[in-house]
Parts: sequence; structure tokens; C-alpha cells
Amino acid sequence: MAGRTLLFIIRKKMVVLFIAALFLATGLYHWAASALARKAYYPLQGKKIVLDPGHGGVDSGANDSSGFKEKTVNLEVALKLRELLVLGGAEVIMTRTDDSDVTEKGDPGKKRYHRDMDGRRKLMNESGADVFISLHVNACRGAHRTRGAFVYYHKNSESGKMLAECLAAQLNHYVADYKKEGELAIHKACTANYYLLRNAKIPAALVEMGFMTHPEEKRLLSNKDYQKGLAKALADGLRDYFLNQALSS
Ligand SMILES: [Zn+2]
Repeated sequence: MAGRTLLFIIRKKMVVLFIAALFLATGLYHWAASALARKAYYPLQGKKIVLDPGHGGVDSGANDSSGFKEKTVNLEVALKLRELLVLGGAEVIMTRTDDSDVTEKGDPGKKRYHRDMDGRRKLMNESGADVFISLHVNACRGAHRTRGAFVYYHKNSESGKMLAECLAAQLNHYVADYKKEGELAIHKACTANYYLLRNAKIPAALVEMGFMTHPEEKRLLSNKDYQKGLAKALADGLRDYFLNQALSS
């Protein structure tokens, strides 16, 4: 009887030890995984980044009768991108984290659209952040063979240009795998006079992640895995930008 009790106690201890070892191994695995992620994205360490998923609330952005809504894709990719950036050690400020616009933060004397833009501008310029990225989806009726990402910057911003070029390079690389013969899919970063770019006090880029008017790309833009790929390309672009900056300063 005493022998059996002893055996029972030993077994019980072994089970406890096994569970403890399992917890330790899981903890170590997660620590190692996040340490690896931090190393891969080390230039992001300590950086402050504002992510601006375009539209939201009553403003769906580009949409069609199939139920596609740009505002949803913008938010999904931004949330995935935030995850990667935080893993890399960055601090992320979002202009919105749900299906609402940013009118609450804007000048109450302005009409809804301008109040929304004003709210985003304030968040961008009062954030003390290193960079600002606005995420959107493109639409170009009648151009079904045009796909891929367009990244815009303001002509007066050299660092905005560098940021846009780094993002465009990674996005082009990602989209290249999906490009079919005869399609226009690879696009250089270009200048634009959008309100947020024009009024940015920090390096800023506006990304049109793809075309909802391209039938296949529209389907992909709503696909979770494709969205993850876009987020990864954007995180890689940001890492390249901060690395370039560190090397050139
Ligand atoms: Zn948009």
C-alpha cells in the first residue's frame, strides 16, 4: 500500500513537472519567436508610426453592388500591419480601430468630410510620430488590366519620397507574384497633392493597395491571407525606410 502511495506521488510529481516543462517550453518558444521578429524588424524598434485606415462609418470609400467596401479592407490591413509593427518594437497610433470615421477629432465648424480629414490631420501632426501612412483601395473604371499598388508622397517632402519609394518597392515585389501577362501591375512611387500629404508635418505616404476594379485583385483584397501579405510588405517597406534613414544620417 505504502509502495503504491509512493508511486502515485512520484507519478503526480512527474505530471506536474511535465506540465511545468511544457509551459516553460511554450514560453521560451514565444520569447524566441518575438525575439526573432524583433531582430528581423529591428530598425522599427522605438519608432512611432501613425496608421490611417481611410474612410469609415458612413463613408465606405470605393464600393460596389457585390458588397465590397474599401473602408473594411483598409482597416483589416491596418490592424494586421499594427500587429507586425508592434512585434518589431514600434509604437502604433491608429486614426481609427473600428468602423467609424474621425469626425469627432475634427473642427466642429466643418462639414462631415472635411471634419473627418481635419481629425486625421490633427492625429497625424500632434502625434509626435516618425511617419504617417494612409491606407486606401483604388478604383479605375474601364481599366481592368491595371492592378497593383500606387504609393503617393508630397513633392515638397524628401523623406516622404523615400518612405513612398521603400513602400512601393516592397508592394511591387509582392504584387509581382500575382501579375498576369499584359497587365500593368508595377508602379513607381509618385507625387500627389492630397490634403493629408500636403498638410503633413512628418514624412507621410498614401498607399492605394490595389484596384477593386480589377476582378481578381478585388477578390484578393478581401482575402485574409492576401491582406496579411500586404501588411507584411508594408512592414518590410517601413523597416527599409528606417534602415535607409539610419544609414544616411
Ligand atoms: Zn480611399
